[in-house]
Amino acid sequence: MPLPVSGCPYCGKLMWVKDEAIEWLDPQTIRFPCPHCHALVRRKMVNVGATAAGPIKPS
Ligand SMILES: [Zn+2]
Repeated sequence: MPLPVSGCPYCGKLMWVKDEAIEWLDPQTIRFPCPHCHALVRRKMVNVGATAAGPIKPS
C-alpha cells in the first residue's frame, strides 16, 4: 500500500506517514497524526482508475 504523502493542512509541511501510525476509519478513510505538528489528519483514499496510486486528496 502506498503511503500517503501530502502537505499537512495545518502546518503545510510534507507528511511521511508510517504504516503503524495509520488508523483506518473505514475502507476508504485513514487518519494519522502529522509528524510535525501532531494534528490528526484525515485522508480519503482514492481508488479510481489512474489515480489509484497517486496523491491522496483531502475530502
Ligand atoms: Zn502538520
